[in-house]
Amino acid sequence: MHSPLASLITLVETIARTQDPEAMMDTIVERLCDLMHAEVCSLYLCNPEQDTLILAATRGLSREAVGKVSLNLNEGLVGHIAASLSTLNIADAPSDDRFVYIPETHEQSYHRFMGVPLIHLRKLVGVLVVQGTLNQQFNDDEEAFLITVASQLAGTLHHLQRSGSWMSQPTLSSYERYKGVKGSSGIGTGRLWVIDPHMTLDQVEAGINSDAIAETADFHQAIEWVAEELEAGSGRLGNHLPGDLHALFGVYQMMLNSPELKQGVEEKIKQGDSAPWALCQVIREMAHLFEQSNDPYLKARSEDITNIGQRILNQLLQHDRQVTEAPDEALILCGELISITDLAEFPLKRIHGIVCTAGSSLSHTAIVANALGIPAVMAVEDLKPAKFRGKRVIVDGNRGECIVTPPDALLNEYKRMIAEEQRFIAGLDKLKSLPAETLDGFRVELLTNTGLLADATPGLERGAEGVGLYRSEIPFMIHDSFPTEEEQLRIYQKVLAAYAPKPVSMRSLDIGGDKQLPYFEMSEENPYLGWRGIRFTLDNTQLLITQIRAMLRANIANGNLKLLVPMVSRVDEMMTFRQHVEKAVDDLNKLGYPAQLPSIGMMVEVPSAMLLIPKLAPYIDFVSVGSNDLTQYLLAVDRNNPRVSALFDHLHPAVMLALEYIQKECENLNLPLSVCGEMASDPVAVLVMIALGYQSIS
Ligand code: PEP
Ligand code: MG
Repeated sequence: MHSPLASLITLVETIARTQDPEAMMDTIVERLCDLMHAEVCSLYLCNPEQDTLILAATRGLSREAVGKVSLNLNEGLVGHIAASLSTLNIADAPSDDRFVYIPETHEQSYHRFMGVPLIHLRKLVGVLVVQGTLNQQFNDDEEAFLITVASQLAGTLHHLQRSGSWMSQPTLSSYERYKGVKGSSGIGTGRLWVIDPHMTLDQVEAGINSDAIAETADFHQAIEWVAEELEAGSGRLGNHLPGDLHALFGVYQMMLNSPELKQGVEEKIKQGDSAPWALCQVIREMAHLFEQSNDPYLKARSEDITNIGQRILNQLLQHDRQVTEAPDEALILCGELISITDLAEFPLKRIHGIVCTAGSSLSHTAIVANALGIPAVMAVEDLKPAKFRGKRVIVDGNRGECIVTPPDALLNEYKRMIAEEQRFIAGLDKLKSLPAETLDGFRVELLTNTGLLADATPGLERGAEGVGLYRSEIPFMIHDSFPTEEEQLRIYQKVLAAYAPKPVSMRSLDIGGDKQLPYFEMSEENPYLGWRGIRFTLDNTQLLITQIRAMLRANIANGNLKLLVPMVSRVDEMMTFRQHVEKAVDDLNKLGYPAQLPSIGMMVEVPSAMLLIPKLAPYIDFVSVGSNDLTQYLLAVDRNNPRVSALFDHLHPAVMLALEYIQKECENLNLPLSVCGEMASDPVAVLVMIALGYQSIS
């Protein structure tokens, strides 16, 4: 075998490019036969019920047998591999006791036999087999190669296997369930409406114009169309989007009107280039200039320039304005990422869900979906949208998954759940003004989490007794640069005023990990163990001081601010933070602002903070458990990684023990305690927390 690594990469790349299931499976067996100089290569897949193995593709055995040969798990050598989940490499298969001759395969007297199980996320997908006439085992290198190939292909074959679409008679009950990560809660059903990727600037070929004046006019017309489109989109979403999200439209308008763009393209058309080619070159040059910049803000703008360039290009190439004619029914929008301008093209009441093949729970799409109350699932990496265009889909934002072509029974069950959820929410209305109290009189303070002005109102309307966590990074994330003290002041004033006199715990900027700012590039090998939360803000002291000052000033009117510090892992972090706040109060007082020292709380998200509570106590006035990160760090599970997110369990015994420990420590030290992670929204977890003595949840 030539370089195994190169062979493997070529094979995996070829498979990734093959769309048709049958062609994909044939390519696998053909290529493996060649690479391993084997006479036979066969792929067996488990049927969707996981009780038999079916010959799905072969080279070397009779093709007639494909789809017909079916083995029980444990039947023959292939069944043995499936049952034992281990590799079998033998010199003479027919003399092995477990060998079963299957007449349909017209198997000649092959001797050497090697098979490996295909396993994806602990589940058996099938078995991959190579055979040959030599009476001698495959060598170690060949065995290692087949094992590696199997582990590389198992994920791809898993979805194929689950769908049953490769079987000659696909199972009627077959439907496909795709895991992603939660973007916005709720359940929705509808037809999959694919937002196709725009034609990319890279695809434009160099061309010359035949009429410079006409092409310049086309270019200006395209700019006008895009401007109108943005305007209309911004108007359509206007009533539904908070001001802070609305600002995104303004950024695009500004770029569209920049003289560099307009004059640059005009100049190139004058020199003889076609309008699309002129546009493409100018956009590339502009994007390149931004990319070269050392300033992270300017660097990140190259993406916006390219985005706006693509929209102009699309208009230029279509000439006629295309209005998306979506059918008049419930739609699930699907694409790599759905931009705010894409959303604005549809009547809101028709968007019943969003599925993105990329992104994370903190992508713009997820933030916007949350603000609009649309269920959304992000990072559904295995879904191929084009394959399911127009098909029925269920989006389950609560579980972070979507189900394509569900059978009627399943669809009806989900519709029942949607109706039940609506009834349940309507029923809660009657309770919202009552205190949250158990039947035996245990009083629990019920707070809300927020990050956008848009979510401030629902919390208030539903009777929240204050804000347990205001995620201040969200306004930072949807801005196009670090907001100034004055800009922050205006936002914080609105949030504090909306809740006054109820308390609002505002968390200092918590970026890093899954929360990235578009204008501050941070690429780290291991971002979850990197420059996050308080570590980042203490190192960027000017940002922290600006934010603290804005919060303290915003607090002057109502005095209901509490400060909360994320990702604390060391005592000196809280000590320094408190010093900064005290100094900021002093400085503001000197300037004539009657700022006051608010209570300062620490989030317990990192296990070390939990163990250091008594040492941290002198610097804090309260504690809030960030159960999302605490669970993530206790269990070593990335909550946004679909491969392991099923292991993310806030009811894991280790998390329970940690919660018990924190409660006892805080009780001993008289420190008010609350929980502000997602587990506070899980009814079962809430019961457990109340049993542990937690009196405040958010
Ligand atoms: C948490 O970690 O539980 C938390 C509330 O913080 P975030 O989810 O914003 O990281
Ligand atoms: Mg956190």
